[in-house]
Amino acid sequence: MAAAKHLPVAGVFGTVDLTAGRRETPVSPGFRNSRKVLEMIRFASLGSGSQGNALVVDAGETKVLVDCGFSTRMATARLARLGTCAEDLAAILVTHEHGDHVAGVFSLAGRYRIPVYLTHGTHAAAARGRSGLPECRLIDGHAPFAVGCLEVQPFPVPHDAREPVQYAFSDGAHRLGVLTDSGSITPHIVDVLGLCDALVLECNHDQGLLAASRYPTHLKRRIAGRFGHLENGQAAALLQQVDTRRLQHLVAAHLSQENNRPRLAAAALATALGCDEDWIGVADQDGGFDWRQLI
Ligand SMILES: [Zn+2]
Ligand SMILES: [Zn+2]
Repeated sequence: MAAAKHLPVAGVFGTVDLTAGRRETPVSPGFRNSRKVLEMIRFASLGSGSQGNALVVDAGETKVLVDCGFSTRMATARLARLGTCAEDLAAILVTHEHGDHVAGVFSLAGRYRIPVYLTHGTHAAAARGRSGLPECRLIDGHAPFAVGCLEVQPFPVPHDAREPVQYAFSDGAHRLGVLTDSGSITPHIVDVLGLCDALVLECNHDQGLLAASRYPTHLKRRIAGRFGHLENGQAAALLQQVDTRRLQHLVAAHLSQENNRPRLAAAALATALGCDEDWIGVADQDGGFDWRQLI
């Protein structure tokens, strides 16, 4: 079902196509309840951590990539590992300009002619000094927009970047929330991530391991600060605030290889949810994680 024109594209600005100078026209909401055919969402990671991040969201007719911190060669190899390819991507959605998220975005997008969606601040920071940029569409960090049959809801996060956002996705029946690179939790984040069927949630570090690490003091302060990264305990506290009644999948992501351990992240999230640790997925820097399907 090619439904972009029917999905709610709320917000003041809609999205702006910088290449063509085109501003997409918002359409009236209300389509969600009228949809007769419901797509299935599945998602997978190409890799997650400070060395590079990329997540694929597949809603059947529409596949999008969230960030690409990998070279084109590595990204295409990892897409192939998941049985998909760059040619199938309808968009690359960028969260912020840090290299582990954006390093490979423009080369992949240029090579395969994939539109890049990003906030004005992220565009200003990430595109500075670059020429020959692929098609970039500016988004309002508070306004949902449509990509094919996916509704994409960006939401601002406190992180030390120009205008960082994270994303929630819906096909009208299921909802996936993604949150990494956030130094603290805001009421808006709690609100957006409520009633998700799946969550990918940053567990960057363990407080004790970070404090004892060889990192210089200024870096420890930055990571642990309000605009740094979520530690296991903060991620667990977030879970206790959001409505998790519909949760089918929970994956801990963006783990520091130095300052965290998969079992510590899983234990923290499992305690918060009151579930078995084995139920919690943990994203890996090299392996990411395999497809998870929302039903
Ligand atoms: Zn990051
Ligand atoms: Zn970052």
